[in-house]
Amino acid sequence: MTLSFDPDQITLPIGHHIAGAFVPAKGELPMRRPSDDAAYADCPIADAGIIDRAVESAQNALASSGWGSCQPRDRTRALHKWADLIEADAPKLGKLEAVASTRPIAQIKDGDIAITAEQIRFFAELADKEGGLLAPTRDDQMGFVATEPYGVVGAITPWNFPISMAGWKLAPALAAGNAVVLKPSEMTPFSVMRMVDLAVQAGIPAGLINIVQGDGMTTGNALTGHADIAKVSFTGSTAAGAAIMGNIAKTGIKSMTLELGGKSPQIIFADADMDKTAAAVASSALANAGQACVAGTRIIVAAEVAEELVQRVQTLLSQIKAGPTWDAATTYAPIISNKQLDRIDSIVQAAIVEGATALIGGARLDAPGCFYAPTLLLDVAQDSPAVVQEIFGPVLTIQTFNDEAEALRLADHPTYGLAAGVFTRDLSRALRVTKALQAGTVWVNRYGRSRDHILPTGGYKSSGIGKDLGREAYHANRRSKSVLIDL
Ligand code: NAD
Repeated sequence: MTLSFDPDQITLPIGHHIAGAFVPAKGELPMRRPSDDAAYADCPIADAGIIDRAVESAQNALASSGWGSCQPRDRTRALHKWADLIEADAPKLGKLEAVASTRPIAQIKDGDIAITAEQIRFFAELADKEGGLLAPTRDDQMGFVATEPYGVVGAITPWNFPISMAGWKLAPALAAGNAVVLKPSEMTPFSVMRMVDLAVQAGIPAGLINIVQGDGMTTGNALTGHADIAKVSFTGSTAAGAAIMGNIAKTGIKSMTLELGGKSPQIIFADADMDKTAAAVASSALANAGQACVAGTRIIVAAEVAEELVQRVQTLLSQIKAGPTWDAATTYAPIISNKQLDRIDSIVQAAIVEGATALIGGARLDAPGCFYAPTLLLDVAQDSPAVVQEIFGPVLTIQTFNDEAEALRLADHPTYGLAAGVFTRDLSRALRVTKALQAGTVWVNRYGRSRDHILPTGGYKSSGIGKDLGREAYHANRRSKSVLIDL
């Protein structure tokens, strides 16, 4: 059976999801499909009244179900069931994901959906294993640190991996005993609606997950500023993260996890395994067409192997199969919108005007949707916009170095510190460089996340505050209470 499907035959859930039920709403924000740039739906905008309803629903669900105070294993069981249903629903869920987003249908079932189900199971298992701490106090006292859920968490996600990003937010928050009101990106609002239907089927109490649709200005502001949202968990751009910090500061103090933008370097030493390195470098432009927060788009390579690496990467970047996300043969994704396509191209053209050379790419692909050619930019200066700005597209810059100190100087970014890669067979050098890099994640002789969900992800500098994944994400969804008893 082919995975390909007709995008016009998909029924789109246009509305919110509150108290376990679909709440139809009038579409207001025009949406276009990235794959063919066709206008196909309008996204509703939840106003403050809808946010009030969603938060109240979350509070009621917490109170009536005892989700935050029950035997933790009960949460574990429900979350495992949810993960099973999500995997089993791949034929339907995958289409809702592919129709709106940049995710090719052939990559969703075993990629986005399978990984999200695994991550839900990972957090489910923490619910009855991660506890507080007995404090070493005087013998006639007892001190301990208890942890408790926050209550209602407000979550906001971006468009680049809609199912995965929703899973990152929902799974730890729920496992830790909270309810959630989540706002997905206004460009990819559909797949998470199906995830909530499946959660209710799995026995996760109705109203524990609520979805509100809309933009940042109206819906996002109302959500992050709501007095009864105890914690905000956000993934998106650094600019929006800063706006959210400002909004929270205006409306009250609350805990925040911010997973923000990046401009990550990959440092390649002359002794690196060139086959493996070239594949890792190319995948930063090819995977989701470079629209990944951790994409390692700044290639910093030892001068003596630069030509060889560039040739190998160029060959890999020439072998793309671009097409609509609903075609099972597609492996190379579209760009999310024409606006973003224009932005990518304007940064590339500005770099070329400043003296860079596009060895390949440097232009849109001649295709009906929003496609940009994989691009390799040579001769870029350290202050070129292509090196400094997060392009969020399939554009790699190549810079060369002569020694380790120069490599580290080039790798350091003035504002971002999300991830970095190091390729070398010299263990001492790998560890020395790893220590020196200002990044929340360092991959050595590989680039990209594995299925080791125990490893948290998050940024240094303006790439964020706090972590998703790992035990850290679970604990970020609980607050601690210190108790000291005189015996
Ligand atoms: P974006 O910041 O434009 O939007 C992200 C979400 O925030 C959307 O739901 C949007 O509606 C909402 N939003 C925007 N302004 C807001 C505001 N003032 N208040 C509340 N909500 C607001 O980002 P995007 O274009 O959807 O996604 C791409 C960005 O996300 C990139 O910068 C990428 O690096 C980042 N990202 C980071 C990670 C990570 O783990 N660090 C993961 C994925 C994406």
